[in-house]
Amino acid sequence: MKQVAAVTNGESIETRNTVVVLDPSSGEAIAQTPDCGPAEIDLAVSAARRASHAWRKVAVADRARVLRRIAQLIERDRDDLAHLEARQTGKPLRQARRDAEITSRYFDFYASALETHYGSSIPLNADTMIFTQWEPHGVTAHVIPWNYPMQIFARTIAPALAMGNCCVLKPAEEAPLTALRLGWLALEAGLPAGALNIVTGYGETAGAALTGHGDIDHISFTGSVEVGRIIARAAANRVIPATLELGGKSPNIVFADADLDRAVPGVVNAILQNAGQTCSAGSRLLVHESVHNVLVEHIEQAFASVTIGPALNDPTLGPLISQTQRSRVMSFLEQARGNGANIVTGGNALNGGVLGKGFFMQPTLIDDVAPDSLMGQDEIFGPVLAVTPFRNIEEAVRLANGTDYGLVAGVWTRDLGTAHRMIREVLAGQVFVNTYGASGGVELPFGGFKRSGYGREKGAEGLRSFAQIKTGVVAL
Ligand code: NAP
Ligand code: MG
Repeated sequence: MKQVAAVTNGESIETRNTVVVLDPSSGEAIAQTPDCGPAEIDLAVSAARRASHAWRKVAVADRARVLRRIAQLIERDRDDLAHLEARQTGKPLRQARRDAEITSRYFDFYASALETHYGSSIPLNADTMIFTQWEPHGVTAHVIPWNYPMQIFARTIAPALAMGNCCVLKPAEEAPLTALRLGWLALEAGLPAGALNIVTGYGETAGAALTGHGDIDHISFTGSVEVGRIIARAAANRVIPATLELGGKSPNIVFADADLDRAVPGVVNAILQNAGQTCSAGSRLLVHESVHNVLVEHIEQAFASVTIGPALNDPTLGPLISQTQRSRVMSFLEQARGNGANIVTGGNALNGGVLGKGFFMQPTLIDDVAPDSLMGQDEIFGPVLAVTPFRNIEEAVRLANGTDYGLVAGVWTRDLGTAHRMIREVLAGQVFVNTYGASGGVELPFGGFKRSGYGREKGAEGLRSFAQIKTGVVAL
């Protein structure tokens, strides 16, 4: 089993205890990474602090050049990175390749965004010259989940570095390997030692030590609502800003006039991509009663043709990340069964045969889900689609907005008025019409309404999250 080190101040760090990383397709151990604690976190934060004095002063064009070089190296190593991502997360290889492409694109995008990111001047009166400028926070802490490790790494690190911050990132214990590789690639690209430090370990130890550290200036957290609350408290204690990208229970809303040939693959992919372990998964299907039966039939057929297998075989559906995650999904299903759920297809773990050692389950479709039930409200984080019919647009809006979450929504209709009304009335950070997810476009600001979090990442908005504005006033 490979021993992989953390990256601090441009050097390897090892610890006596380690965290074992499993391949969810086979249950096999594939690597061990350091089990960092307060001492290692302290080293990483001090390295970032030291580096930040110089990095913030590096000319914009030179910072952008380093970011572009990182993008090129990711492109150069795309196959290796995709392979590693697929192995540690269980996601189909095709998706992992796409993730690597998007990861590279983030660094290119923020290099360009930085070069065109200016302050403004404010014409208050004839005797004063007033201008605004953006400045980095200083040392930024980043805690990310296991579902899109490379993409989320880049989404949060690229804009932070671009703006002149120095970073300490803790990946999830289940999937730290690509973050570590990206850390080394950044050094190879010419990023100064200490500007980006990667510390592995558990959330309750490494994560808590990082987000509670006295010398960080900003926290970017992507993960569950539960941990998001802990992070927000840590930020509040020190009065530092935080960006929280949390969970979702996002609806796909299909109206009677929808083009079902477009809607069906859209709805199916929105829940099966990454085995439903996507913050923006379309895990609720709200459908007009007149097309309810036909849509459910089509989705059932689509689920029947899904291929299930190890990530590297590039199936439609890979395993869940861990035994723990699969048990969690199964406990939701058991509870639903106990309440008489109408499971149209799926609902079971795959325990036997060649897939038995991995953490696979069937794609699952549940019809007539009560909106206020657990299945209608909670983020399941598995390939489980909950269907609820509606009668009219008012009911569709009420159901769409009827959970604590508000990350994204999909609307399927041919009517322009319906489309715009839904965009206006649905409480979510992104609303898609006749598409879903917009192919990961890094240009699109992303983030939650309600308990899906606060702050925005991606797009030009993402750059501003990692900077603070200063107003200069000069009396003439
Ligand atoms: P999680 O359990 O909240 O963990 C996220 C990260 O926080 C991990 O690195 C975890 O470390 C760390 N952590 C746990 N406890 C901590 C603590 N007390 N202090 C500091 N850090 C701590 O989430 P997950 O299970 O990895 O990911 C799934 C969740 O992420 C879902 O809710 C999903 O919707 C959400 N998500 C949101 C977005 C978005 O952009 N909105 C994107 C992807 C995922 P360890 O796991 O190593 O212990
Ligand atoms: Mg975890």
